[in-house]
Amino acid sequence: MATAATLKPGVEVRAKKLLINNEWTDSVSGKTFPTINPATGEEICRVAEADAADVDKAVRAARAAFEKGAWRKMSASQRGLLLYRLADLLEKHADELARLEALDNGKPYFIASVADLPLTIACYRYYAGWADKTEGKTIPVNGNYFSYTKHEPVGVCAQIIPWNFPLLMQAWKLGPALAAGCTVVLKPAEQTPLTALRVGELILEAGFPPGVVNLLPGYGPTAGAALARHMDVDKVAFTGSTEVGHLIMKASAESNLKRVTLELGGKSPNIVFADADMDEAIEGSHQALFFNQGQCCCAGSRLFVEEKCYDEFVEKSVARAKKRTVGDPFDKNTEQGPQVDSDQFDKIMGYIEAGKQDKASLRTGGKRVGDKGYFIEPTIFADVKDDMKIAREEIFGPVMSILKFKDMDEVVERANKTMYGLAAAVWTRDITKAHAIADSVRAGTVWVNCFDVFDAGAPFGGFKQSGLGRELGEYGLANYTEVKTVTVKL
Ligand code: ADP
Repeated sequence: MATAATLKPGVEVRAKKLLINNEWTDSVSGKTFPTINPATGEEICRVAEADAADVDKAVRAARAAFEKGAWRKMSASQRGLLLYRLADLLEKHADELARLEALDNGKPYFIASVADLPLTIACYRYYAGWADKTEGKTIPVNGNYFSYTKHEPVGVCAQIIPWNFPLLMQAWKLGPALAAGCTVVLKPAEQTPLTALRVGELILEAGFPPGVVNLLPGYGPTAGAALARHMDVDKVAFTGSTEVGHLIMKASAESNLKRVTLELGGKSPNIVFADADMDEAIEGSHQALFFNQGQCCCAGSRLFVEEKCYDEFVEKSVARAKKRTVGDPFDKNTEQGPQVDSDQFDKIMGYIEAGKQDKASLRTGGKRVGDKGYFIEPTIFADVKDDMKIAREEIFGPVMSILKFKDMDEVVERANKTMYGLAAAVWTRDITKAHAIADSVRAGTVWVNCFDVFDAGAPFGGFKQSGLGRELGEYGLANYTEVKTVTVKL
């Protein structure tokens, strides 16, 4: 098990302040807050804490950079070059960033190296390529006029990101915003500010002009809320809980109708038919739930398994979960690190209690691992019913719920009986069944015989209360532009 002695991050924390107008600065209040190593529960360091006064300063800098100065005058291809340069710098410092991510978030360093970093770098490169490729149209209007459209940057963007994939979520936000020519005030999650700030140093090194990217570590109800209600912010992009998503939209409605995009919670159905390749479905479903300590908005957290193979599937899934290695994020054999903080730990343990009380069958796990840090055993409940709390609410932890189904119509109806609609998956060798699920499940992404396959070019986002708008791909870029129609008398 993880002990302080075995935890060797091998990385130094450098950036701990706010980044406003290309300068590292203390907060106006002078306040700082601690960021905690979730593997030990100990403080890593203190970071400057932004609130409303700092938001005002950062928005002013972002507005000035948007209205005038080097960024405004820069050609689209030059913006792309800066993004390429940033991607190269991330690649150069990939090992350091993976270590810092593991230290601050608790995710295994090895996973951060092979998943988070490559996806982050690819995202910046993808959007670097888009910078000079957002084209408008010419419109054949009536009369003697020439009419065309331009895709203009939406303006000053507030971006509020979560703690589960700090580097990647920063890339999903900054990539399209900067490619489109917007300026940004980004607030990393209070649990994980360190990698966002290190990227801030690389942004300066890449040569982005002052005020284009401003970074404000701080808390949601203070700094986050001030961004969401700010009158001079043109757009807010938020990733986090559905509950806070409602607050962001309300703040927009009550301030200046800033554009809103939201990527929120999920309770994604993962459907296994008896004709699937069983070993692949078991391993795929294991990763679909347990990947990133279960802290994924798209986790396959309602695992529907066909009656005919249910017992075998449960038995083998339990055996797989028992083999899952939990411990020191810096041990190369670790599959699962700690949960991000004590709040999440307590919340998940509460859900495990609820599962037991609702009489779901606890087949493995359910307890804390060790006595320091926030580690939880990989946990599986079988015989879970749709109305149980663990089947309805987002747990965001290593707790698998396996439900039984008989046929296609039934499973589709049950899969859709949720306020969420972020993702879904189906495991089958039958192409007809695969397409039937892909067609009928109301979710922004459907994976067939795979899970968590992400690509910077493939849009991601939610139906229903899982969100508004899409990130990634061309659709993600469109959310950072306003369409302008220009009509000229000939
Ligand atoms: P979680 O419950 O998973 O931590 P949250 O939705 O609370 O998810 O947090 C996601 C991000 O939203 C974080 O950066 C957090 O600081 C921010 N946030 C939380 N509350 C608010 C709020 N009232 N207004 C704006 N941002 C918020």
